[in-house]
Amino acid sequence: MLSDNKNIYKELGISEEVYRYGEAVWASLAETWAQIDELSEYNQLKVIGAMQKNQVSEACLLGTTGYGYNDLGRETLEKVYADIFHTEDALVRPQITCGTHALALALMSNLRPGDELFSPVGKPYDTLEEVIGIRPSKGSLKEYGISYTQVDLLPDGSFDYEGIQAAINDRTRLVTIQRSKGYQTRPTLSVDKIGELIHLIKTVKPDVICMVDNCYGEFTERKEPSDVGADLVVGSLIKNPGGGLAPIGGYLAGKREFIENAAYRLTSPGLGKEVGASLSALPAFYQGLFLAPSVTANALKAAIFAANLYERLGFPVIPNGQESRHDIIQAVTFGDPEGVIAFCQGIQQAAAVDGHVTPEPWDMPGYDSPVIMAAGAFVSGSSIELSADGPIKPPYAVYFQGGLTWQHGKFGIMKSLQKLVEKGIIMKDFSTRNL
Ligand SMILES: *Cc1c(COP(=O)(O)O)cnc(C)c1O
Repeated sequence: MLSDNKNIYKELGISEEVYRYGEAVWASLAETWAQIDELSEYNQLKVIGAMQKNQVSEACLLGTTGYGYNDLGRETLEKVYADIFHTEDALVRPQITCGTHALALALMSNLRPGDELFSPVGKPYDTLEEVIGIRPSKGSLKEYGISYTQVDLLPDGSFDYEGIQAAINDRTRLVTIQRSKGYQTRPTLSVDKIGELIHLIKTVKPDVICMVDNCYGEFTERKEPSDVGADLVVGSLIKNPGGGLAPIGGYLAGKREFIENAAYRLTSPGLGKEVGASLSALPAFYQGLFLAPSVTANALKAAIFAANLYERLGFPVIPNGQESRHDIIQAVTFGDPEGVIAFCQGIQQAAAVDGHVTPEPWDMPGYDSPVIMAAGAFVSGSSIELSADGPIKPPYAVYFQGGLTWQHGKFGIMKSLQKLVEKGIIMKDFSTRNL
């Protein structure tokens, strides 16, 4: 049955055919929505519990200037993060400019010349290639005499336990585990899987630091990687934990020693966590964290809707429509650049900010191929907001994420389908053939 919303979709450029198709896919997912609502309920209570335990008060929202000594709001927020992640300590700062910076900070502060960094889950996220020195870059770990090695996942996406065991050596100091698939078509790792991997690594070498790149994973499960043995979890506040409100920032949560190292690197030896004025960032950090479980759930709904819709149209999707979720990213493989471009342009047309602009592929710093990005966001570049990224290289997959509200995510996916139909990439009679 069609709801009364048909007309407003039509006013916003969605044909009746696309609307009906989208509604039919949406209606088939009611059971999944109930599970996601339960997940977000759990995580909402986890966040409120941590805020209450640490007596978050009105004074915590005020912020400091200058050196930022005795910043009650900053110190309390770091305790709240530590409690949510069940870690000894946390560093949550507007001075951490983005996720790459947070990860670089964790690595550069906890590795020393002569140490080796090891990734047991294959190539890390594109921007980390320059941090590590896989692609030559000024200031990379490699320039400081820190080596890097990796073992790829097996073709079926599982861990290469033998290879991992063989790769760990005397110099292995820190193991980096990326939870999310990033710009790759490999599976995202569940928290339980990360736990198994950490267990194996600690059996081979107990004193190695296990760090998880938690970007896009926060609040997609009831547990976080720090609940299964990770010594350090790291992420961006313009993704899940910022709830769409944080205008900047990154976080690290983990063992006190590793957080302390990071703090001395972020500010200065001798100063550490004691300085770093929060300026006016705290209200958005707190309120964003409060909203994060709910916002993440909305993004999950948008991703699952996209998976089911494009799967039925015959495009390879990772994860598929039925799989359990461990991050908010949805990959759809179009197999040619035109599909990637049309999809991203459709997402852009659904934006509340910059909905009138047309994205094109460009050579973004930090990436090794042109990338097209659909990002009409209130916070520039925020990918917890409805956004899509497509590197223009085989297999020509698009990575879709976010949506502060599920209604926006649903509209975005409808718009993308509309664009693919208008450009003739999906046949006009798609709806009669595929439902
Ligand atoms: C986004 C992301 C990063 C980098 O974060 P930026 O904020 O874009 O610098 C690193 N790793 C993963 C898995 C990511 O998704």
